[in-house]
Formats: sequence, structure tokens, C-alpha cells
Amino acid sequence: MSSRPDLLQTGPMMGMIEAQLNEHFTVHRLDAPDAEAMLAEVGPRIRAVATGVGSTGGGARRVTDALMARLPALEIVANFGVGYDSVDAEAAGRRGVVVTNTPGVLDDEVADLTIGLLLATIRQIPQAERHLREGKWPAGGFPLTATLRDRTLGIVGMGRIGRAIARRLEGFGRPIAYHSRRKVADVPYTHYPDLIGLAKAVDALIVIVPGGAETERMINAEVLAALGPKGVLINVARGSVVDEPALIAALADGTIAAAGLDVFANEPQVPEALIGMSHVVLLPHVASATHVTRDAMGQLVVDNLRAWAAGEPVLTPVPETPVNRAG
Ligand code: NDP
Repeated sequence: MSSRPDLLQTGPMMGMIEAQLNEHFTVHRLDAPDAEAMLAEVGPRIRAVATGVGSTGGGARRVTDALMARLPALEIVANFGVGYDSVDAEAAGRRGVVVTNTPGVLDDEVADLTIGLLLATIRQIPQAERHLREGKWPAGGFPLTATLRDRTLGIVGMGRIGRAIARRLEGFGRPIAYHSRRKVADVPYTHYPDLIGLAKAVDALIVIVPGGAETERMINAEVLAALGPKGVLINVARGSVVDEPALIAALADGTIAAAGLDVFANEPQVPEALIGMSHVVLLPHVASATHVTRDAMGQLVVDNLRAWAAGEPVLTPVPETPVNRAG
């Protein structure tokens, strides 16, 4: 076995990741101009894939079953990000390929941003700031806004990040409820096994479930209608989780009051209809995007790959692929 296994990098990654990959692996780039020829030549030798958005921008890069079929020696796919919906993990599992992600190291960062987005949306912080910058203050103060003070807060997804969000929300002194398929034993919040039931019971719905087929468009017109005209939707999960046309319609006709969105169905494209609305706050998928947290995520990508290459157990395999292949 080569001491520097052949690795396929699907797109640009952070400098600190690329430097370490180049040090420990023989790196081939899928985003190089001659990628097809490269794949034909080195595909059979590729044993590892590094993927995911390792910078501050760019859309998902898919590791499909078809791509993996061209990599018969593949043993590991290391994904940058806790969400790995851009990797076909079930197909990887069938192929005996382990997939790793970056859980845990970003929970607090994403939860912090979620609270910021919630407050920004309800109190219209960006809109108020624009009012000042545009010189409108002398002519009149910013209009009164909605508040968190009279709300019940709902979370869709009570995993690592959902819990970190809930812990922060406790400080606001408002009732907290959540929906997930299974009730979580050790949290004090009200569980709704039914999403519509949760949406009816709360005035702010924070979405933090994984993307993928099982959650696709789960926030649909019916859920938005249940959330109601005072309701605020915050999506920090994946754009695929929300039926975007239904959300746009619900915002346009007052079915819900406002939305704060960090993620979109077709990133980095954002529908003009949303950009034109004054009662939405839009962020370019930045929930984990700080130097400290992105470095921690990047290091976990590299550490998983290096553990595999050293024949040690990988650190953070995803549940679909609990296999461990020695390098
Ligand atoms: P976890 O796996 O720890 O938690 C996922 C939660 O979602 C669990 O409570 C799970 O409960 C629930 N869930 C999963 N599927 C469903 C379903 N079909 N219906 C209802 N609930 C469901 O994940 P994390 O908290 O670590 O991360 C969650 C997601 O957040 C990531 O997968 C990623 O997509 C997104 N994310 C977005 C970021 C951003 O930049 N905006 C940054 C980081 C993460 P149960 O299985 O019981 O249903």
C-alpha cells in the first residue's frame, strides 16, 4: 500500500484542509479542467474522497452512487459539514465505504447564529439598521415590531444542534416545544410527535433537521398554515426541508408573519421573490461560518482521513456506514 493514498477532492476546500491533504495524500481534483481524463486514469486507484464546502461559499458537490461506481477501490468519504445530504451515504454503506462528517464541533456556533437570526427576524434588526443608514430616522423612527415576549417557541429537530438552540432559548423565559420522530428522554420541553400539532402550538418554528429524502419539503403549505399569521419560520437546516414556493406564497399573503433563512433550495441562488420581501431576513448559509469553527470542522475532516490511513478507527462515521476500513 502506498504511504500516501490516492484521494479525490471534489472541489475547493479551506487552505488548512488542502495543505494537510497535500501533505498526507496524493490529491486528484475533480474540479480540474481535465477531470474526466483524470478519473479514467486514476479512478481505480482512488481510496478516499474529501468533499463538502470547505470555504465560505459554493453549492453542494454531490458524491453519488454513479461517482462511487467509478472508484472501485474507494474506502472512505470524508465530508466537511455535519449535514451530509450531498453524499449518497446509503449507497456508500452498500459499497462498504465509510462516510464521515463533522458533528459536535459546530453545535454552539450554529445555535448562536440561530438565536441571532431569530431575534433579527422578529425585531427586524437588519431592517431597522437599513432605516438608519438610509437617512430615514430624522423623518420618523422605525415602526414598532413583533416580539419574542409573547411567543411559544418550537424546534423541529432535537438533535445536537436543536438541544444547543433550546438551551439558549431557555434564557428567554418562554415555553419551548419540539418535534422529532422520537421523544428525547432527557429534555424538559414538550414533545409533539406530529409536526402540524407543533406548528399549531407555537408562534416561532426553528428548523434544524438533516436534509435528504426523509425531510424533503416537510415544512409545506399545511405546516405554514398551522403556524399561522403571527408565526415566524427560521430555517437553519437545509433549503430542501422547506417547500420554498409554498413559503414564498405564505409570506406574500400573510399566512405567516416573517421568515429568517440561512439556507435555500438552490444555493447560492436565492429566489427574487424572497429578496424583494421586507419581512424576511436572508443569510448566505453562514451558521457555522467563523474562523474557529470552520477550522475545527476542517481538522475533523483531516483527522478522520488520517485515522483511516493509519488503520485506526475513524472518529465520526455517519450511522448509515458504521463500517471501519483500515488504510
Ligand atoms: P442530529 O442528527 O444530531 O439531529 C437531527 C434531529 O432531527 C434529531 O432530533 C432527529 O430526531 C430529527 N429528525 C431527523 N429526521 C427527522 C424527520 N424525518 N422528521 C422529524 N425529525 C427528524 O443533527 P445535528 O443537530 O447535528 O444537525 C442537524 C442538521 O442541521 C444537519 O444535518 C445539517 O443539515 C443542518 N446544519 C446546518 C448548518 C448551517 O450552516 N445552516 C450548520 C450545521 C448543521 P429523530 O431521528 O428522532 O426524528
